[in-house]
Amino acid sequence: MTSKTLAAALVLCGLSATACGGVAAGAGPARTGGAASPAAPPVRTAPAASPVTSGSPATPAAGGSATTLPLSGKVVVVDPGHNGQNHRHPSKINKRVNVLTQWKSCDTTGTVTPSGYSEAAFAWDVSQRLVKILKSRGATVRLTRPDNAGVGPCITERAAIGNRAKADAAISIHADGSGTADHGFHIIMPKKINGPVDPVVGASRKLGLAVRNAYRAGTGEPYSTYIGSKAMNFRSDLGGLNLSTVPKIFIECGNMKNPGDAARFQDAAFRQKAASALAEGLQNYLE
Ligand code: ZN
Repeated sequence: MTSKTLAAALVLCGLSATACGGVAAGAGPARTGGAASPAAPPVRTAPAASPVTSGSPATPAAGGSATTLPLSGKVVVVDPGHNGQNHRHPSKINKRVNVLTQWKSCDTTGTVTPSGYSEAAFAWDVSQRLVKILKSRGATVRLTRPDNAGVGPCITERAAIGNRAKADAAISIHADGSGTADHGFHIIMPKKINGPVDPVVGASRKLGLAVRNAYRAGTGEPYSTYIGSKAMNFRSDLGGLNLSTVPKIFIECGNMKNPGDAARFQDAAFRQKAASALAEGLQNYLE
């Protein structure tokens, strides 16, 4: 790594801290994985928690013939960011994992609104609503964690779940923790890194565009005022994207530190709108 690329990586690190709600739980990064050789295999600490839920089979129509649901045959991986108990297990989530362009924490705690509503809980709730909609449209859906009461899994495993499922699309759901005046949502898509994600960079951009358009139309949430171009942001420092071999994006649904965004996030009707919009975007991409 040249000093130029190192500097770039450090800048991206800073962005990463913002985009994922900042700091990992507990003290600073504890390097437990020995030498930071990028050749070392990614460390996996969490058991694979990946319940599979299949969409309901095509329901016979009144006339007796089966109707084809719009997402029949499609596999979607939904990754609710962080986990509700991450903050209680700093040694687990601070474990270093190899995300190809750098070493990072296994996972982070995520951010929280000023009134204490956590990003992990928000991501879990929106994901649950999204899974229901996708299943009702015939998709096979896999979640990267079974509930909001555990730890992890590591970002490396979150990517691996999508890869093993051979997902047609994967989406990681987050909300940002930026300055209080910052608001709006943005999509994060992978960049080419001379790695496994390269072949799906183009498809991920298409997925990102579809979800961006649907999310804006369906929620009224504006494009981010502080990151990306028209809510589109490309990064090479996220393990969940770098290690994905299937089309994958992150959405930062808004900024939890902004009073307007925070109030919307705490409203179940908004979260339902958000889930519907995400389903719409995924379907537009998949069809
Ligand atoms: Zn996050």
